[in-house]
Amino acid sequence: MTTLLEVNGVSVTFDGFRAINNLSIQIGEPELRAVIGPNGAGKTTFMDIITGKTKPDEGRVLWGDKGASLLGMSESRIAQEGIGRKFQKPTVFEAQTVAENLGMALKQRRGPLRVLFGRDRGSEAERIAAIAAEIGLADQLTRISGELSHGQKQWLEIGMLLAQDPRLLLVDEPAAGMTPAEREHTTDLLKRAAETRAVVVVEHDMEFVRRLDCKVTVLHEGSVLAEGSLDHVTRDQQVIDVYLGR
Ligand code: ADP
Repeated sequence: MTTLLEVNGVSVTFDGFRAINNLSIQIGEPELRAVIGPNGAGKTTFMDIITGKTKPDEGRVLWGDKGASLLGMSESRIAQEGIGRKFQKPTVFEAQTVAENLGMALKQRRGPLRVLFGRDRGSEAERIAAIAAEIGLADQLTRISGELSHGQKQWLEIGMLLAQDPRLLLVDEPAAGMTPAEREHTTDLLKRAAETRAVVVVEHDMEFVRRLDCKVTVLHEGSVLAEGSLDHVTRDQQVIDVYLGR
């Protein structure tokens, strides 16, 4: 595993309030990482920094094989670099079918193909079918997306992001509002996606994080409080004190 993203000594101040405080995190490629922490810990701001929405006051954000700085890049340039973000609320085109949504996403994919996955070969229809199979919507291709369940819409949006072949996928609370069966499917989907890329999941739900079975970074007051397996961080007294509120 090589380092794909290096956040180094980053701080962000909003109106005199330090939301991110000397934060350093490294993400590998491929890797599945969960980022957890209480409300206000800085999880959203962390994702905003990576996607270029928020520019830090200090520190470095380095990306890719050559360690290019993301700080001077616009949000759209960063997206072209292969950083995709899934917000909590699904944002699929509700009036279009599943196949049409995936087709639109395939057309937006960045530059030349990075790696030749199965889904990259063949006709557009074949590629759409391959992604639909990957996200568990193979039998829903002609469905109007607005008719899908909440969980299915979330998977479709993840599929649309995967169609663009990101090197890093940021996912905000994917399991929120899902049934237990949908959560399980989402776990499998994210684990598979993380076999060939970096996937960072920001999550509140500990049971979901346990199922992801990956390295966990605990944020608190804009810094890393603990890092390691879920068992390791949940045994950490500082984490117990601030995060579990005991
Ligand atoms: P989390 O996602 O972990 O709940 P956030 O990154 O949203 O945390 O917020 C971290 C801290 O920064 C919080 O105290 C929040 O109130 C503050 N904050 C976030 N965005 C802004 C903003 N635009 N202006 C002022 N304060 C902000």
